[in-house]
Amino acid sequence: MDAQSFSLTRASELRAYLKAIDFRPGKSLGQNFLVDANMRDLILDASGAQAGEPVIEIGPGPGVMTEGLLDRSCQVLAIELDHRLCDHLLARFGDREAFSLREEDATRTPWTELGITESRVLSNLPYSVGSRILYDLAEPGRVPRSVTVMLQSDVADRILAQPASDQYGLLTLRLGWSFVPKRIRNVPGNCFWPPPRVGSTVLHLERRETAPAALEDPRRLEALLQFAFTRRRKQIGAIAREGGFPLPGDLDSSRRPETLLLEEWAHWANAT
Ligand code: SAM
Repeated sequence: MDAQSFSLTRASELRAYLKAIDFRPGKSLGQNFLVDANMRDLILDASGAQAGEPVIEIGPGPGVMTEGLLDRSCQVLAIELDHRLCDHLLARFGDREAFSLREEDATRTPWTELGITESRVLSNLPYSVGSRILYDLAEPGRVPRSVTVMLQSDVADRILAQPASDQYGLLTLRLGWSFVPKRIRNVPGNCFWPPPRVGSTVLHLERRETAPAALEDPRRLEALLQFAFTRRRKQIGAIAREGGFPLPGDLDSSRRPETLLLEEWAHWANAT
């Protein structure tokens, strides 16, 4: 069996191929590979990626999503950390003009050099670094057109959380500032080989073209959020006094951080 001749959506063929090249999926890099053709198509549809568009794929693994993107005539830049998988990806897709590969750690990728703001991002995220990569991609000035990701269900719940819930926090607000998130669907473990131990969810994050509120200094908002969410059980009046973030008169000082909307955080940050 060579790198090009097996089906990436047949678990038995993928397993046989990986065995033949003496590759064992590793837990530390979150190597749970998608082997379900319907789920792959659903994720590709959700991404909105069109023929000719640049798409950055983080953690392509054996290439199930990569192949789907190339078959839809997208321009694919894949970023994969595992050297053995990079060898395989080059053997499978190296002759396709629309494919390029960076062998690197995506937590260190220089996004702005890659035309990130013109691109869509697609990823079945390595769960150990998923939130970190999403934080990076939500930073003003480097936000992609959209991000479609498979990630741990509890992380997805935090991104989608409503105010006054336990999950509502930094991840909700930081991503919510740059994106409008939407749950596509939860994904059963038998869509992967090997199956992950935790639940998985596909989310689509569409870039906001206008910020949710006027903001004078993004660093001030960041400092306020960091300070407040390490004290999320306290009332915001106490947080304001402790942190030197004067509270605007129209915000009720007895509220707690997890109840404030994005617009209210921006209003508070602007008042400091
Ligand atoms: N996209 C493939 C799929 O859907 O089957 C593989 C997904 S697997 C969950 C995660 C992939 O990310 C693996 O191929 C792993 O080697 C790669 N990976 C893990 N950590 C990484 C990092 N920091 N930077 C880039 N790739 C990483």
